[in-house]
Amino acid sequence: MAEEKKIPYKIYLNEEEIPKQWYNVRADMKNKPAPLADPATGNPLPAEALNVVFCEELVKQELDNDTAYIDIPEEIQDFYKMYRPSPVVRAYCLEKALGTPAKIYYKFEGNNTSGSHKLNSAIVQAYYAKKQGLKGVTTETGAGQWGTALSMACAYFNLDCKVYMVKVSYEQKPFRREVMRTYGASVVPSPSMDTEVGRKINAEHPGTTGSLGCAISEAVEVAVTNPGYRYVLGSVLNQVLLHQSVIGLEAKAALDKYGVKPDIVIGCAGGGSNLGGLISPFVGEMLRGENDYRIIAVEPASCPSLTRGKFAYDFCDTGMICPIAKMYTLGSNFIPSANHAGGLRYHGMSPVVSQLYHDGLIEATSVEQTAVFEAATKFARTEGILPAPESSHAIKVAIDEAMKCKETGEEKTILFGLTGTGYFDLVAYEKFNNGVMTDYIPTDEELQASFDKLPKF
Ligand SMILES: *Cc1c(COP(=O)(O)O)cnc(C)c1O
Repeated sequence: MAEEKKIPYKIYLNEEEIPKQWYNVRADMKNKPAPLADPATGNPLPAEALNVVFCEELVKQELDNDTAYIDIPEEIQDFYKMYRPSPVVRAYCLEKALGTPAKIYYKFEGNNTSGSHKLNSAIVQAYYAKKQGLKGVTTETGAGQWGTALSMACAYFNLDCKVYMVKVSYEQKPFRREVMRTYGASVVPSPSMDTEVGRKINAEHPGTTGSLGCAISEAVEVAVTNPGYRYVLGSVLNQVLLHQSVIGLEAKAALDKYGVKPDIVIGCAGGGSNLGGLISPFVGEMLRGENDYRIIAVEPASCPSLTRGKFAYDFCDTGMICPIAKMYTLGSNFIPSANHAGGLRYHGMSPVVSQLYHDGLIEATSVEQTAVFEAATKFARTEGILPAPESSHAIKVAIDEAMKCKETGEEKTILFGLTGTGYFDLVAYEKFNNGVMTDYIPTDEELQASFDKLPKF
């Protein structure tokens, strides 16, 4: 009998093994995600209409439901080599601390200055903007990871980068802001007085500290009213999930080297991009009837779009100037409580992830903030990495599943996505350490009030 290969703590691929193509899971989906639509009519938007807002090549990717593998341009492969491949880590120390027979692996995406997986898509979007001959791009950022990733990508391709940062984060996270400015981006607190929509929101809600939905509206307005600019988005869109498939492809290739097949794949879900990217190749096998996995999306109890939202067309932004998307949503009017996982505070969910969930291919669960930070602390003390609050949602459920294995004695293999590091989230850790962190869960009445305002056609 062949001796079982000892699994190293870290499984790295070689540089040549970094994927040269992204995998487009939509090609294997029987029920395709619904197309982006015109908020005025509810009709699908053609490429020409989307090209006003987004870069042309990215619109092609957005609308392509058929091509399974799309080549990664060489310039992007070169950039990926600066910080990829990212390791798959066997969490031996966590397993030991838990006393579980489960085998836990995580794919670590925090090993770049942005501190998250978002750089995987930022560099692609900046590349296509540059190729189109644009002057620059605009975007929003909440907690700041996406804005940082995009600033890095724009610096690399020498593009102007204008970031509308949710005002409360701009004030509370000055360090993140300075990283962006160091990479050359201009950072504006949102809602600002620079845009029509910003002035309107400020007039209607004096003293507001902003939201992602408002910041998106501002960034889109600036992109469509300034020649040579387009808007880019760090999550939710089909194209972003496509770029993030590099996470899942690398993870699967690394595990395949050692003949490891995960039973459970877990990811945190804000807009759905890291989860969608991580699970893509696994879901592809499920869709083609080749293999079976249990896949779990984890969201905060304070912003539970999959577990308590409606599957409906909704606005992506508060100002209602973006195309509408069919997704699990809490309503574009829903303002989640100030939980500390900024990257998970979006009212909607990627149409691809939403469709997979609707079709029963993936599960979803929600977890409360205090329990998430307990899991984060356990992970930091055993595995050494200080995890981002967003990532810690996945850690929490991975630990829960491992503890179930301890009860049953099952040796399940668990893979989860560790999307980033928490160095800029120390105010949240401070609250947790001082015992003053709260768990807010919206009531059914609050959600209903928001659902009542969903667009109707
Ligand atoms: C943005 C972010 C998330 C959530 O975004 P998704 O699009 O759902 O992946 C998760 N973790 C980190 C570290 C982030 O920066």
